[in-house]
Amino acid sequence: ALEIHNATKSYGAHRVLDGIDLTVEPGQTTAILGPSGSGKSTLLRVINQLERLDAGYVQVGGELIGVRIRGNRFKQLSDREALKQRAKIGFVFQSFNLFPHLTILDNVIEGPLAHKRATKQEAREQGERLLARVGLLDKAQSYPRQLSGGQQQRAAIARALALEPELIVFDEPTSALDPELVGEVLGVVRDLAKSGTTLVIVTHEIGFAREVADRVVFLDAGRIVEQGSAADVLDNPRHQRTKDFLSKVL
Ligand code: ATP
Ligand code: MG
Repeated sequence: ALEIHNATKSYGAHRVLDGIDLTVEPGQTTAILGPSGSGKSTLLRVINQLERLDAGYVQVGGELIGVRIRGNRFKQLSDREALKQRAKIGFVFQSFNLFPHLTILDNVIEGPLAHKRATKQEAREQGERLLARVGLLDKAQSYPRQLSGGQQQRAAIARALALEPELIVFDEPTSALDPELVGEVLGVVRDLAKSGTTLVIVTHEIGFAREVADRVVFLDAGRIVEQGSAADVLDNPRHQRTKDFLSKVL
C-alpha cells in the first residue's frame, strides 16, 4: 500500500531524513517509534505533501505522491492533483483538526461532499454509520468545542475514514490527551487495525504498539535503525540505540 524509497530531506545542513526505505503492506499496521527529532513527523508530512523530499520518492497504491514523472524528471503535482491524491490518505494528528464551526456530522461528511463522492443523503447515512463505529452517534449535532479531547479525536478518525482512504496515518494521536482519555482513542485504532485497514502510527505508546502493530520501525537521526515484528524490535532489540530508547520509554 505504501512504499518509501530513499526518502532524503535536509533543513539547511541538518539531514532530517537520511535515506529511508520502508514498505507497508495492505492491511498491516506499522508503528513508527523514535526519539524526539528523529524525523517521524517529517516523514508523515512528506506523505501528506506538506514537505518535499530532496531525493527519493513515496508511492501509495503504486502512485507517486506529490510528483509525477515528466520525461525523465519529477514534476510537482498541480494543487488540484495534489488535493485529489491527498483524499486517498487519511491523516489524524496530535491536535484534533476538526472544523470548529461545523457540527461533528458535518465535519465527517465535509470530505465526501467536497470531493463529490456522494449525495448529501448518502453522505449523511455513511457519516452516521462512521460516528456509530467510533461511538459518537449521539454527538452528531454537537460542535467540536462541546466534546472532550478523546471524543474529538474519535471524530477526527471518523472524518479520516469517510473518504475510504487506502491508508490512514496517525501522528501521536493520543499525546495531547489526558491519560484517562487515551484508552478510548486507542480502542478505536485497535478496531481499525483488526478490521484490516492499513495504518501507519507514530506513537510513544509502546504497549499499544506491541499489541496492534504487525511491524515496528525504530527511527533515529533520520534513519531506520531497525524494523521487524513487534516481538523482534520491542522484546529483542538488536541495536544499542533501540535498547537505550526502549529503556527510557518503558
Ligand atoms: P517528536 O517526537 O518531537 O515529534 P519527530 O521525530 O516527529 O519528533 P520531526 O518533527 O520530524 O521530529 O523533526 C525532525 C527534525 O527536523 C528536528 O530536529 C526538527 O527541529 C527539524 N525540523 C522539522 N521541521 C523543520 C522546519 N520546518 N525547519 C527546520 N527544521 C525543521
Ligand atoms: Mg513528531
